[in-house]
Amino acid sequence: MGGLERDHETGAEYARRRDREDPLAGFRDRFDVPDDLYMDGNSLGPVSAESEAALLSALDEWRELGIRAWTEADPPWFWYGERLGDELAPLVGAREEEVVVANSTTINIHTLVGTFLDHLGPDADRKVLVNELDFPTDHYAIRAQFRQRGLDPDEHLVAVESRDGRTIETDDVVAAMDDHDVGIVFMPSVLYRSGQLFDVETITEAAHDRGILAGFDLAHSVGVVPHDLSGVGVDFAVWCSYKYLSAGPGAIAGLYVDERHFGTTPALAGWWGHEKETTFEMRPTFTPADTAGAWQVGTVPVFSSAPLFGSIDVVREAGIDRVREKSLALSSYLIELVDERLADLGYAVGTPREPDRRGGHVAVEHDEAERISGALRDRGVVVDYRPPNVVRVCPSPLYTGFRDVRRAVGELETVVDEEMYEEYDTGEDEVT
Ligand SMILES: *Cc1c(COP(=O)(O)O)cnc(C)c1O
Repeated sequence: MGGLERDHETGAEYARRRDREDPLAGFRDRFDVPDDLYMDGNSLGPVSAESEAALLSALDEWRELGIRAWTEADPPWFWYGERLGDELAPLVGAREEEVVVANSTTINIHTLVGTFLDHLGPDADRKVLVNELDFPTDHYAIRAQFRQRGLDPDEHLVAVESRDGRTIETDDVVAAMDDHDVGIVFMPSVLYRSGQLFDVETITEAAHDRGILAGFDLAHSVGVVPHDLSGVGVDFAVWCSYKYLSAGPGAIAGLYVDERHFGTTPALAGWWGHEKETTFEMRPTFTPADTAGAWQVGTVPVFSSAPLFGSIDVVREAGIDRVREKSLALSSYLIELVDERLADLGYAVGTPREPDRRGGHVAVEHDEAERISGALRDRGVVVDYRPPNVVRVCPSPLYTGFRDVRRAVGELETVVDEEMYEEYDTGEDEVT
């Protein structure tokens, strides 16, 4: 008992010291975090003072300028997609013209996969390589794109299987490129459930060696993991802005197209993707912008975009490398504590232990994961449940400290140790 007590003290002291020495600790004050312990920033990031100010400023522009705000606001609303793209470019390692914000992530998958299926042409290999642990919307969209081209989705969507139900081996992805007639490989940067980080560079190089295009869904990494899309030569990418970037519910999504593909005709054409200098000549035919801007479709949703200016300012000030460093320190600490204190209660870590194979969240597995998540929420600890057995715990680095991680683990311990989860039902989980 004395030994345990001493360990506990040591741990608490360690967490306190890490928080004291944390160069990003001050960023916590920028955010309004709704719950005692908000560990769900990988689903919906909380609002920062900067995002709120940017949103209110757009509202004032609407009030004060009306229609003139399209050209006279700061920056002009007409250019929001491009300006936000410029500002996001360093976060994904791309040139400014290669990034734009537009649409939702799902729509961006539709237009980019559709675009490149058309670009490959009917005589090329046109199977798309994905994996069986993907976020479902990615597969729904790709299947629909096959149907629209008269291609059988069951035949053309090839999913790499997982060996352990949690992760996907890079070797298996590469082997599948050889085993099937693949035209496009489309993988996540981070798996939404286990939190595995993919090796974007190795997968892209292997694809290109075989004449295959490489696209990625960065929904679970943008804003917490640095990327080098242009450097690696990734062909295209998509991502959300409401997760780690905290740009608000339903915020405008982002996309990247490598400059060598500029001029390719977008599958979903619309006037917002037209060459901007001549948009208002209202020509009957579509001349796509000669940048990633061509993949915009319709009018930019100003209020769902403005907060992103504030979000990017915050991440830029913190520095994406420091964000990543702290994120890994927090997730390492969380994994250590789960091993140390929760293994005897039936918990296990489902996230790879190697730092370079981890995104920002940790999958804590338990047979009662769903009921545990419910019990935690009622105790002010917001996590989410992903079937069949994962509690996702996200110590998002801009507003979470080491003591928070320690307290979250204490709560995971309490709800099982004291059997609190037994008062909860399964199958009632709400949208998260
Ligand atoms: C969150 C997420 C999405 C969400 O797409 P929306 O169009 O914003 O609803 C898509 N793909 C992945 C991998 C995600 O994690």
